Amino acid sequence: MGRHKMISGKCRLCGEKTMLSFEHVPPKTTFNSNTKYASVAFEDYFKNENPFKNPPKGKIKQGGIGFNSFCKKCNSFLGSEYVPAYKRWVTGGFEILLDREFYLHKYTIKQIEPLKIMKQIISMFLAINGDFYLDAYPELSEFVSNKETRTLPDKFKVFAYLTRAENIRYVNHMVKADFKGGQPINCSEIAFPPYGYVLTIDSEDKIKYLNNITSFKNYDGALDLNFSMFQLSTYMSIPLDYRTKTEVESQIEDSINFIKKNNM
Ligand SMILES: [Zn+2]
Repeated sequence: MGRHKMISGKCRLCGEKTMLSFEHVPPKTTFNSNTKYASVAFEDYFKNENPFKNPPKGKIKQGGIGFNSFCKKCNSFLGSEYVPAYKRWVTGGFEILLDREFYLHKYTIKQIEPLKIMKQIISMFLAINGDFYLDAYPELSEFVSNKETRTLPDKFKVFAYLTRAENIRYVNHMVKADFKGGQPINCSEIAFPPYGYVLTIDSEDKIKYLNNITSFKNYDGALDLNFSMFQLSTYMSIPLDYRTKTEVESQIEDSINFIKKNNM
């Protein structure tokens, strides 16, 4: 401890204006105590013709990834109430993660606590998004701060996938246009091995390849859960983009050729 500064602000869980401690996202004990990662701005990917040939030079950072989001009291509340259950879920995911892209895993995790896991996941979305979430979506902080409640309005849906997180992904709330003519998706996304999560608001029940795990909110207590879950790749810092490395590279090549051919 002590490595991370406290800063003043509004706690995104209780709403108090106070000193905010550093909240690891995901929790420090779930393999996020000494993460080495390149922090690359979203736009830098697009300034670049081919991010694989000329990777954008992000600042290499070390230490856990996190945000000054919660007051000390809320931080330790999460740590004692939800993190142990979350850790078990993460350990199960790591055990089945493979060294391959786009694989459908079928597996069972024994004695997991879905409600607590869901509360921890929602707290991570509160942590990465600004305190505007408190005003816009107070139901989210209420769901997390009251450990008994199963009430999370139906407009909120949470999706999960397995991932090695080739690039870790922390995408703040945005509206992702669907270029294929479907509805735009109102979402925020976090990907850090072994899971990726998408929180959507007022969107459809299904997203291709992703598991809708919203019903975790209904299961208090421990149970054995069977899953069929895709392992997806996250090369680009774009929400809902799970193209494999080969797909991304060939599409980049295509667009470069198109630009050259048309003298753009
Ligand atoms: Zn607080």
